[in-house]
Amino acid sequence: MTHPRNLSLAEMDRQSVFHPVSSIDDVMRNGPSVYTSAAGVMLRNAAGRDLIDMGAGLWCVNAGYGRAELADASAKAMRELSYQHLFGGASCEATILLADRLLGLFRERAGAPQMARVFFGTSGSDANDTAFKLVRYYNNLRGLPKKKKVISRIGAYHGLTYAATSLTGIEAYHKAFDLPIADVVHTSCPHHYTFSLPGESEQAFSDRMVADLETLIAREGAETIAAFIAEPVMGTGGVFLPPADYFARVQQVLDANDILFIADEIITGFGRTGQWFGTGTYNLRPDIVSLAKGLTSAYFPMSANMVSDRIWSVLENASPEVGAFMHGFTYSGHPVGSAVALANIDLIEREGMVENAAALAPRFVTALRDRLGDNPFIGDIRSVGLMAGVEFVADRAKRTAFPAGTGPHRIVARHAIEAGVLTRALPFIPVNSFSPPLSITAGEIDEAMDRY
Ligand code: PLP
Repeated sequence: MTHPRNLSLAEMDRQSVFHPVSSIDDVMRNGPSVYTSAAGVMLRNAAGRDLIDMGAGLWCVNAGYGRAELADASAKAMRELSYQHLFGGASCEATILLADRLLGLFRERAGAPQMARVFFGTSGSDANDTAFKLVRYYNNLRGLPKKKKVISRIGAYHGLTYAATSLTGIEAYHKAFDLPIADVVHTSCPHHYTFSLPGESEQAFSDRMVADLETLIAREGAETIAAFIAEPVMGTGGVFLPPADYFARVQQVLDANDILFIADEIITGFGRTGQWFGTGTYNLRPDIVSLAKGLTSAYFPMSANMVSDRIWSVLENASPEVGAFMHGFTYSGHPVGSAVALANIDLIEREGMVENAAALAPRFVTALRDRLGDNPFIGDIRSVGLMAGVEFVADRAKRTAFPAGTGPHRIVARHAIEAGVLTRALPFIPVNSFSPPLSITAGEIDEAMDRY
């Protein structure tokens, strides 16, 4: 197909688009991968080829592609009230209903203490920047101006705005940008398969991870640390499931040191783990929850932070004296995004997608193990709900890693595209990740694994 200036779309892309998280050299040499349409779990590329999207985009199209219900909700909202901000106490119906719905969902489905209020943003990264600013604000109001640092974990992914990049614990995102900033410190990555010592049990490894956290807090001084941020399951790092009792023990350390817990549920929220929230799956007790991606199934860029009573009561009590909370965005609580999020939650509930994720989880991991379990270059296959990681090693018996930069998982992901299935090659250690739409069927999982 040709376009203005008689160029193909691929050539126009090469001449005009600055791609995020991409090699400029690669795009200039090989051109972009252009996609044209999608329905359910299938994506169609510009050559007319259908691929099974086992990544749900970037872990975000939870309800699947092409849902008329969400397009209709969006069109209706645009006709009724195309924009409304929330500054200065302004509000609108869809946003009020969504905040109420999120608090209710969390209360009923996460098994954690109730959250007090919802703050809205537009992306996962800005949600984590909001959390970063909020814990500073909270401690300033409490008269603890030194208590500002945030502990994150090596291998974590929390986004790519300035504070969020710093919270991210993967060096590839830091170098060349002079990050992380000084108020972020990283503790050990709790991924037993790759980072345990020879013969170290999961329990002993978990003990060591908690001890590392305690050592870090002692080194920095608890009086300088505001919060600890963690994904319930580390996604981009490599689909790392927390070791048994890790979060329960971490929570005790946080409580003992008056440190808040920020749960980054940007991937795990809205059904990915087979429950509505990773908080429920792993019995977490967060003070702030960051949500995005599955909130709207990526039909609208929207994020949310739920904040606990503990934080809210400090903010509310101090408000008469400190005046306005000077943080927020033009699109915070956008009425169209709110309407899409409400319709998306309705759809996930009506079609039982969270239940589908839980029901298909055993079949999903069995399909992966049946197809890949004997491969000498695959060391570990792990999953929870509809989220899985396949880790590549040079020597399975010795768990030897491939030499840095060889990227076997990138080669496999490229071949998988040729075979008609999309997975992600992750940037921290050699892992292909799988996180299909929660609407996927058993037959589609089998078909994807046949193609992989
Ligand atoms: N946090 C987690 C756990 C994520 O996986 C992501 C994105 O992949 C983000 C934050 C950042 O979200 P966004 O890309 O919408 O800024």
